[in-house]
Amino acid sequence: MEIIHNPAAMTAWSKVERAGGRSLALVPTMGCLHAGHLSLMAAARRRADLLAVSIFVNPVQFGPDEDFASYPRIFEADCLAAEEAGVDVIFAPETEVVYPPGFQTRVQVTGLSQGLCGAGRPGHFDGVATVVAKLFNIIQPQLAVFGEKDFQQLAVVRAMVRDLNFAVEIVGHPIVREEDGLAMSSRNRYLSPAERQAALCLYRALKSARRQAAEGERDCGRIIASLVTAIAAEPRACVEYLQIVNDSDLRELKKLTDTARLMMAVHIGRTRLIDNGYLLSKR
Ligand code: AMP
Repeated sequence: MEIIHNPAAMTAWSKVERAGGRSLALVPTMGCLHAGHLSLMAAARRRADLLAVSIFVNPVQFGPDEDFASYPRIFEADCLAAEEAGVDVIFAPETEVVYPPGFQTRVQVTGLSQGLCGAGRPGHFDGVATVVAKLFNIIQPQLAVFGEKDFQQLAVVRAMVRDLNFAVEIVGHPIVREEDGLAMSSRNRYLSPAERQAALCLYRALKSARRQAAEGERDCGRIIASLVTAIAAEPRACVEYLQIVNDSDLRELKKLTDTARLMMAVHIGRTRLIDNGYLLSKR
């Protein structure tokens, strides 16, 4: 496995491989790799000859009061995990190389970036779209895999690729969960044992919404109200948003449809967690 820090060297590596007729898949990450990331890598591996993983904690997608400085960084352990997962190349650039002095460009996917996480984290998805555009240009993959864990991010990236004619196929990958249902996340490390228990309220809310849908409830307002009440009973939890949206345009729904998706952001103590899932379809 190669580890490349320099963008020009990364592009040169990709060029040589593609000239040799090999296809390249990319899994972009911020590192601190867990089984969710590894599952994305396995899916990418199956679809291409070569697998690149980027590890970059992207400062421009963090707000001023967010956890950029304290975000867990365990590069050596990540390299071992990636090697074991059959990764061919890790691209891990320094911040100053990605955003050198004079950098002044932002990629903005307007509509999809506004609500849900975009409302509580202004500018977040501009930062995501900007770095993903850069990674695509530097690494030049034919395919990139993103997790449905960050469902809005996946929608934003799909829209960017469509609108800007990137020649990259975007593949969404289902959420990987702990045995008790908590969606895997690098931020789960922040949770104390008591908070880790409290964090289960997100998955419980998803299950409760699915149960209500299965029993015939179609009024999104009533479902959301019941979930807000249930989460309010957990003293460590504070809801940032709970919405049922249409999965393609992320518009809020009043009545449940087959494409309805529950989207959640809940603070557990100082840790912000997100989760989501379909309510009616089998996925
Ligand atoms: P991150 O390192 O948190 O930026 O995540 C990198 C990629 O892994 C993103 O496409 C995430 O959506 C995806 N990912 C993170 N956690 C999970 C999970 N539990 N299940 C599926 N995908 C995930």
